[in-house]
Amino acid sequence: MTPPLPSRADVVIIGGGIVGCSIAYHLTKLGITDVLLLERKQLTCGTTWHAAGLIGQLRATRRMTELAKYTSELLHALEVETGQATGFKQNGSINLALNAERFEELKRGASMAKSFGLAVEVIGPAEIKAHYPLLEVGDAVGGVFLPKDGQANPVDTTQAFARGARQRGARIVEGVKALRILVERGRAVGVMTGEGPVAASTVVLAAGMWSRELAAAVGVSVPLHAAEHFYIVTEPLADVPRDLPVLRVTDECTYYKEDAGKLLVGAFEPVAKPWGMDGIPGAFCFDSLPEDMDHFEPILEKATARLPILATAGIQTFFNGPESFTPDDRYLLGETAELRDLFVACGFNSIGIQSSGGAGKVLAEWIRDRRMPVDLTDVDVRRLHRFQSNRTYLRDRTTETLGLLYAMHWPNRQYATARGVRRSPFHDRLLSAGAVMGETAGWERPNWYAPPGVEAAYRYSWGRQNWFERTAAECRAVRDAVALFDQASFAKFLVEVR
Ligand SMILES: Cc1cc2nc3c(=O)[nH]c(=O)nc-3n(C[C@H](O)[C@H](O)[C@H](O)COP(=O)(O)OP(=O)(O)OC[C@H]3O[C@@H](n4cnc5c(N)ncnc54)[C@H](O)[C@@H]3O)c2cc1C
Repeated sequence: MTPPLPSRADVVIIGGGIVGCSIAYHLTKLGITDVLLLERKQLTCGTTWHAAGLIGQLRATRRMTELAKYTSELLHALEVETGQATGFKQNGSINLALNAERFEELKRGASMAKSFGLAVEVIGPAEIKAHYPLLEVGDAVGGVFLPKDGQANPVDTTQAFARGARQRGARIVEGVKALRILVERGRAVGVMTGEGPVAASTVVLAAGMWSRELAAAVGVSVPLHAAEHFYIVTEPLADVPRDLPVLRVTDECTYYKEDAGKLLVGAFEPVAKPWGMDGIPGAFCFDSLPEDMDHFEPILEKATARLPILATAGIQTFFNGPESFTPDDRYLLGETAELRDLFVACGFNSIGIQSSGGAGKVLAEWIRDRRMPVDLTDVDVRRLHRFQSNRTYLRDRTTETLGLLYAMHWPNRQYATARGVRRSPFHDRLLSAGAVMGETAGWERPNWYAPPGVEAAYRYSWGRQNWFERTAAECRAVRDAVALFDQASFAKFLVEVR
């Protein structure tokens, strides 16, 4: 018989995906062992179980890269420590560039990575072909090879985190749902379950795509939305080497993984399909979503030209599963602005497996110290605004954010969706003066002005952008003549002496 739930724990974690289990593991490593993790069904049954398991280290920002790097360094040690295999295979990864702009982006990423010790090589088409013989490289410009990248088994890795946590005293309970977060005087003080309340000094919300609704019930904004994410797995193929690196062809929105003699082909297509608009079903447990071959077909056509072996392969699995996306493609970590002692770790934008170790480690330290262990502003939940939890806003933005993972990460790139949330009283007059708008915290702000005869549109570039001269003219006007600033979008503080 399962023992009853304790009436209190130092830390209660809601959610037994890879992230919740990593947090439990890292808390116990710090000596915080009075940890209770509640999973409503079974460990991994939300998003974790169906992840492709790519463990890449090069991310959009320095901090996110460091956290992903830590995960890959941890995986072998975790296996040795717990005796539970993680399936980690360090077969490296290749990012392929099909044009000069993409190659520039990859090279910039490579030099950022090198600056803090990530193994990375910039390579040409011939070397790429040597690493990946199945690949068509006739139109390739170059790429980067990260020898320490690889792939892991998400379910086994979660079980390893859970086993490590249990070995040091954490209690992990499946089949118990957190019904709501308990609040007293602006603090989270525990969790109500079907088996009664559990008091806690700290509550951690790591409930994946369910997190937004659980938080909203206590007035906390956790802006994330689920989207459908697709991959196929082929029948076994005789000519697929087992040591193939993971491959990303971002110009064609695809990634490839060798999977026990089969190939897994996944996509980050430009216009995604948001899911769960009416709430995430309570019964969801190891479920998948209906296949949509019409949606996936254009991706598959390009993949077949890129890897001709796919033309002869039967498709064994067409998989469609939901994952959480945030308005800026960065995950949500830390103590919430609205409730003290409530921490979140969710919204992982398809990098939750590779980020799980690093995110779990820094969140555990943040819980212990009640301050960020390092600068985590990139991923701090408090960077986002309440309006970003609006369902329509999130649904619209989610059509874009999934694809942006593989789109060109141009400097100053502007979102195309969910725009016009906040407008200055002068908006129409700014537009008629030629303003080309950008978005900051939901505000539409003129980033530059196009005079008559100049195209009022962004032409992105890694070099000098098309608005350079226009901005220079504004700077000269401010310095030498007169300028009027519209400060509607700036934060305003009311300081009162009482
Ligand atoms: C098709 C696909 C491929 C992917 N491939 C990769 C990849 O290659 N590499 C990578 O890094 N990432 C990948 N991802 C993303 C990765 O799977 C997720 O980012 C990660 O699994 C998120 O983990 P989590 O713990 O935050 O969420 P989840 O795994 O969803 O865990 C949340 C848990 O909380 C539980 N829960 C919810 N509500 C409650 C409640 N009220 N009480 C108790 N428990 C509750 C749920 O049952 C669930 O088990 C992929 C995702 C998809 C969909």
